[in-house]
Amino acid sequence: MRCEIIAVGTELLLGQITNTNARDIARELSSLGIGVYYQTVVGDNEKRLMEVFNEALKRADLIILTGGLGPTDDDLTRETVAGVLELPLEKNEIWEQKLREFFSRFKRPMSAINLRQAMVPRGGKILLNDRGTAPGIFLEERDKVIILLPGPPRELLPMFKEQVIPLLREKLREKENLAVLQSKVLRIIGLGESAMAEMISSLLENQSNPTIAPLAKGAEVHLRLTARGSSGAETESLLASKAEEIKKVLGDYIYGEDEEELEFAVARLLWEQGKTIALAESCSGGLLCHRLTNIPDSSRYLLAGLVTYSNEAKINILGVDPAVIAVKGAVSAKVAEMMAAGVRRLCRADIGVGITGVAGPGGGTPQKPVGLTYIALEAENLKLVQRYEYWGSRLDIKERASQAALHLLRLYLLKKLKKAE
Ligand code: ATP
Repeated sequence: MRCEIIAVGTELLLGQITNTNARDIARELSSLGIGVYYQTVVGDNEKRLMEVFNEALKRADLIILTGGLGPTDDDLTRETVAGVLELPLEKNEIWEQKLREFFSRFKRPMSAINLRQAMVPRGGKILLNDRGTAPGIFLEERDKVIILLPGPPRELLPMFKEQVIPLLREKLREKENLAVLQSKVLRIIGLGESAMAEMISSLLENQSNPTIAPLAKGAEVHLRLTARGSSGAETESLLASKAEEIKKVLGDYIYGEDEEELEFAVARLLWEQGKTIALAESCSGGLLCHRLTNIPDSSRYLLAGLVTYSNEAKINILGVDPAVIAVKGAVSAKVAEMMAAGVRRLCRADIGVGITGVAGPGGGTPQKPVGLTYIALEAENLKLVQRYEYWGSRLDIKERASQAALHLLRLYLLKKLKKAE
């Protein structure tokens, strides 16, 4: 199936917004094994939209248009697509009712132009939109699949993932006469996307079935493998053998599969090795503890998680030396070490973890910028402290700190902790 994505919007041409919709849709399609052959951007202009849509009809089997489904005169996508396909627009009763309920709930008057959003080219199905007033439209015409999606990403993305992907899977099965399309995700930590792509470059270049789609996800990289076959057993075996090939190259960089988060991988290792852990968190505000306690039976290995936010708590509870705080500051390698050592001693745990940093947005200095974080581990024969500099919101920094601590813990438990990690 060859796909073309057409993003409609003059703001895109003027560089006022970035075409993240095309990027996000293309990523999702590649994980389904659908190739995007063209991405086009066109302004809110009927004649030029007609031209690009006509062109797409010649060269693609699947055409996805985003934007221009609003109620105003410059929102032309619905009418232009219907015009080119010579299909009349018909009122969709379900959506008309939704619009009426929406406007009465928010006590806003509904004008005639709002009803444009309930108009659908004959034969089209609507895609429900919980977050806005424009439904998506799914149309099969001239042996093509044509999908119209609203522009705002917060409306488009859930609609795409929850409604369009299942419909496309169905189409792929019909068109390619396949019984099954199945995916598996390999989750990678400790390698950037490009370093990973280099390591498996020959597998990426020679991919066919399964397809392999890399995706950076925060501090992780995910590889989505998608296999097609005539039975579940066939796709299972195709996925398993491709995953094995990849594992041979990436080894322990792969920490889990599918929905398994990093905390599960760490919990499993703690459990298998019968080790206990205690946490002293400052800037991460208990997020590491939260993640580790999301796992059933975490009391088997987690003894305590203390959020020692103030200097007093670090001194009085963990026994951090006040002179060290006075000289080095609360965000310092030494304090992180003393937090890890303090909580380990207090709880008689095998492993102690200390996290201290500047979560921002205020409080940064040139020597200690927002995002500076120290993470320490203490265990038998191990005293380790690492320095990180993160950027982003407070939540980003908390997430990255908890992720880095889990990464260090995993490496330690795999006996792979190098000073340089
Ligand atoms: P609405 O019903 O909100 O008018 P619409 O379907 O008409 O939606 P547009 O008016 O084209 O969509 O765009 C609305 C907003 O959605 C834009 O201002 C922009 O913030 C965002 N948007 C539109 N297209 C894209 C795109 N390709 N990538 C990222 N964001 C986009």
